Amino acid sequence: MKRDLSVKEASDWIQGATPRLAAETVNLFDGLGQILAEGVVSPRDLPPSDCSAMDGFAVRASNLAGADSEQPVGLPVVFEVAAGGSAARPLADGESARIFTGAPVPAGADAVVRQEDTRSEGDTVWFSAPVVDGEHVRDAGEDMRAGEEVLSAGTRLGAAEIGVLASLGRSMVSVHRRPRVAILSGGDELVEVDGDVTGDRIVSSNSYSLVARCRELGAEPIYLGISKDDPQSVESQFRAALGADCIVSSAGVSVGDHDHVRPVLQKLGCELEFWGVKMKPGYPFAFGRFTAGGVVFGLPGNPVSAFVTFEEFVRPSLLKMMGAEQCFMPTLRARLGEPLTKKAGRLHFVRVRLVRDGQEWIATTTGNQSSGVMRSLVEADGLMIFPLEEEALQEGASVEVQVLRGHWFEGRQPPP
Ligand code: AMP
Ligand code: MG
Repeated sequence: MKRDLSVKEASDWIQGATPRLAAETVNLFDGLGQILAEGVVSPRDLPPSDCSAMDGFAVRASNLAGADSEQPVGLPVVFEVAAGGSAARPLADGESARIFTGAPVPAGADAVVRQEDTRSEGDTVWFSAPVVDGEHVRDAGEDMRAGEEVLSAGTRLGAAEIGVLASLGRSMVSVHRRPRVAILSGGDELVEVDGDVTGDRIVSSNSYSLVARCRELGAEPIYLGISKDDPQSVESQFRAALGADCIVSSAGVSVGDHDHVRPVLQKLGCELEFWGVKMKPGYPFAFGRFTAGGVVFGLPGNPVSAFVTFEEFVRPSLLKMMGAEQCFMPTLRARLGEPLTKKAGRLHFVRVRLVRDGQEWIATTTGNQSSGVMRSLVEADGLMIFPLEEEALQEGASVEVQVLRGHWFEGRQPPP
């Protein structure tokens, strides 16, 4: 077993050890959050033919060449085309047709004039301005062309992608299957969310945040409860997790007398590949693999450490399993809003808020950075990287921030 890897070494190791999961065919709606295992080609043009973008009148632009308010041009309205209908015959020179949004533009017509810009009088419609060829006409295939790859393999299915697939008539799609992630917690002090918290007992909050994070990512969490700090209890919990694509266990992986995870994993045939990553929070982190397949993450118990190691190592691994091409958190450059110091030898992930100042982002810490302060995660927009060997960062220094989310995305302003 290797010890004391840098964040980069640990991350590369894990990504290299993570398999992509096989493809499965799912119903369109069930694929929400999953990642396409196939490129999707449009079987037809969309729209299928030139169609109107407005309610109005289909014309030949050349017929309205000289129209103005002094000398409007009047054309007879010879037929009508509605969405889903079709023109009875081509439009002849000097004619117009009543047309509605989405209706196919009749042969012989090349533009549509909005109803609001015309005046009707019996069977004649009057135009007081010229129109350009193609005005208010949606060209056949302008959205998607027959034979064109519209969505590539590796695309995550959100609402827009599902809409596109539906428009192509794809009720079933091929996606990488969701990883089944066993979530385990352990510790004599831990209880379930509605458990008895008398004395020094605390709720196993990691269980809940890790299950939630798996769901957010589109993985399938399997919650296996809390084990006691004894080898039998830990072993039976891990036995229940065997066969999962990924096991995420929090706590018990340190070097304390009550940390039974490592020996139990070894007993069950899991090769522990490394332990300890030079980072803070999150140093006591372990990674292993079962020979039969399945990766194992031993996260530290402290809630912030568990969260940060999940984001750095588990999230990219799950995304790779799911077929994603971009597995790592987006980053941005920011100016540090306050001076910071630390000892060399560990990379610190500092929880920061991000505020816009002109062209720049300003990163300020969320306050107490103890790995037990869960509220620092609620308040954080990102994890600021305080590099391994650095000992001081000045106020105003340019820093890299991994973006967790943005309070600025939450839309406090109504749209303009
Ligand atoms: P350990 O890794 O077992 O030494 O735990 C480190 C710290 O994290 C201790 O203060 C534990 O009480 C706390 N902790 C461990 N597991 C959890 C959990 N599932 N939820 C919340 N806190 C936990
Ligand atoms: Mg413990």
